[in-house]
Amino acid sequence: MTNQIYEKIRSEFEQKRREAQKAARMRKNEIYAAVPALAEIDRSINLTASEYSIRIINGENVENEMEDKLKQLSDKKDRCLSQHGLSRKDFMPVYSCPLCEDTGILNGEFCKCFKSRIIQENFKSSNIGNNLDYQSFEKFDFRFYPDDKYGSYPLTPYENMKRNYGICKKFADNFEKAKKSLLLIGGTGLGKTYLSTCIAKQLLTDGKSVIYISAVDFFKRIEKSRFEQNDGEMKMFESCDLLIIDDLGTEAPSAYTIAVFSDILDKRWRCERKLIISSNNRLSEFEKIYGQRVFSRLAGSFECLLFYGKDIRVQKFMNGED
Ligand SMILES: [Zn+2]
Repeated sequence: MTNQIYEKIRSEFEQKRREAQKAARMRKNEIYAAVPALAEIDRSINLTASEYSIRIINGENVENEMEDKLKQLSDKKDRCLSQHGLSRKDFMPVYSCPLCEDTGILNGEFCKCFKSRIIQENFKSSNIGNNLDYQSFEKFDFRFYPDDKYGSYPLTPYENMKRNYGICKKFADNFEKAKKSLLLIGGTGLGKTYLSTCIAKQLLTDGKSVIYISAVDFFKRIEKSRFEQNDGEMKMFESCDLLIIDDLGTEAPSAYTIAVFSDILDKRWRCERKLIISSNNRLSEFEKIYGQRVFSRLAGSFECLLFYGKDIRVQKFMNGED
């Protein structure tokens, strides 16, 4: 969870809480206006309590007397309330979460209402949007990967996809313990984006912060950050739980953006924060485009998954499915 999101939700909760309390105060005034006797009893209760408190502070032994008096007044209040079809509940604020009373904290931990609000916000800020509705590990379709030998590859496209799927699923299931980031290499329409979206969806549901961004946008934003001090977006790229960069190699990098990209890779690697990078390029081409530093980081701390076979979008189109 990023600080920005946390702060935003925290102030949203504070606001909700204040509004519930304000509504309760207004309701109380309305009830007092309708039943003045009730207002009178409450005033007596307050007066009695403060009168006796002063006497107790002055050393008088009137605790029992005070308790009796307050009990009488409290009974009188209950009778008055029931006469008018009211209860003490009518004076209480109505919080949207009765468990934590809209504080977001329950027994020293985040309440489940707060957590689900964070998850919701993480989904929104992840950039993934509507893809999440229909893409999931459960819905992955292996039919488009034939179980026949393909070129000089040792595994058939089907066997290869089973392997890639397994690695991605394991990455999502054991995210905290995953040793390496993922580099998904291969042509378009072979499931790279689909599998990264499945991982993103699962992690977002677990309350992790995920940013999904195309390489073109990613490098544009780096370029833009050059002239902005204290850019929150760059901090997000460094600190989100998972950063997914789609289609690396389609952008036009400059010496500056490559240096920042390399820094982000290094910072994330030092904090053991994972990335998923997908690309049409071969690994060997990365050295030419991004230089030795980026190349050795990609080669050393990423697990490389190859995607091959026939473009699924073309297959679906031929079958009339799309
Ligand atoms: Zn709650």
